[in-house]
Amino acid sequence: MSIISDKDRTYVAGTYARFPVEISHGKGSVVYDTDGKKYIDLGSGIGVTSFGIADDEWKDAVSAQLSAVQHTSNLYYTEPCTRLAELLCQRTGMKKVFFSNSGAEANECAIKVARKWAEENKGAEYSTIVTLKNSFHGRTVTTLAATGQDHFHEHFMPLTAGFVYAEANNIDDVKRLVKENRVAAVMFECIQGEGGVLPMNPKFIKELASLAKSENFLLAVDEVQTGNGRTGELYAYMNYGITPDIVSTAKGLGGGLPLGATLLGEKVESTLKAGDHGSTFGGNPVCCAGAVNIIERIDDELLTSVKEKSKLIFDSLSGAKGVESVSGMGLMIGIKTKKVAKDVIASCIDKGVLCLSAKDKVRLLPALNIPTEELKEALQIIKNVCAED
Ligand SMILES: *Cc1c(COP(=O)(O)O)cnc(C)c1O
Repeated sequence: MSIISDKDRTYVAGTYARFPVEISHGKGSVVYDTDGKKYIDLGSGIGVTSFGIADDEWKDAVSAQLSAVQHTSNLYYTEPCTRLAELLCQRTGMKKVFFSNSGAEANECAIKVARKWAEENKGAEYSTIVTLKNSFHGRTVTTLAATGQDHFHEHFMPLTAGFVYAEANNIDDVKRLVKENRVAAVMFECIQGEGGVLPMNPKFIKELASLAKSENFLLAVDEVQTGNGRTGELYAYMNYGITPDIVSTAKGLGGGLPLGATLLGEKVESTLKAGDHGSTFGGNPVCCAGAVNIIERIDDELLTSVKEKSKLIFDSLSGAKGVESVSGMGLMIGIKTKKVAKDVIASCIDKGVLCLSAKDKVRLLPALNIPTEELKEALQIIKNVCAED
């Protein structure tokens, strides 16, 4: 500790308030710092390392592709990219996939598709995208505009025009905005992650889906954080029984390598034509080979175990001393603690558990395959920290 963090402060742009932990290596849900101290990882790199650190199967898939060809550009075909698109379509019923490198880019594609679809089907003036207050959709200038939290917008005005924000869980507010604006799409997270791990109310999502039908706008679901098994279904919208037109995902998809995907349903499968969009690295064969392994392993058995571990977390923390409430779904959990969340997280680090925060909550996004014993051990440490005076 210190040489790395000192140098980091000198040379790396100060955009992150890093915790005082220098990660050296790990295996599964256990990581070690440069002093050899062990931690149980309940953050998985913000829901990215879906099967944990240096997972053998994922590593083999990635290594094999790395030795075959690491990049070709999108001028040529490669098997991993094609296979991943096929898998994603088969598992969701969506029709086509555009690959990029991050969540923000997956949402950028969703927004471009929505606008082009609306231009062709409703008229060019139908360019407005409705998003929800307290949402998070990314850090690019356009996805910041989509993000319904004012403080993210400060210093970076003017943002991309054409975004309006509805109260979450308030269908009348969405109806009002659809009336007052010419709307191409409504984009939302089924569970607001950065906003504090807040699941949307099922009735609201159903009403939103029927409004999309009657008013002829697109439903774009941001599954960047909620996707890829995180909530106990492959994608969180599947918990709500709706069929979106566009699904964007990233984080856990690549298992630790940068990969974004925008899944396009029947209405928009042919909206993007050659030259309309692109990405140099998007669909990179190494990232896609890893992602094929991840998606193939998110089967019913794994999803059942995600739900069981979720129940274990809710049962263990609900009503525990110093815990005010527990929210979320699957292995995407928010804990409202009596103590300030940052202090809980700092004490957990001290005692060998890595957690995240979301707004005023402690947030847990463990690996989907975290061993139950490690999960229990970490939960006991969190409970001890919350209960201390
Ligand atoms: C993390 C996140 C993003 C942004 O993803 P990046 O890969 O950081 O660009 C967008 N939407 C949601 C819901 C997220 O959680």
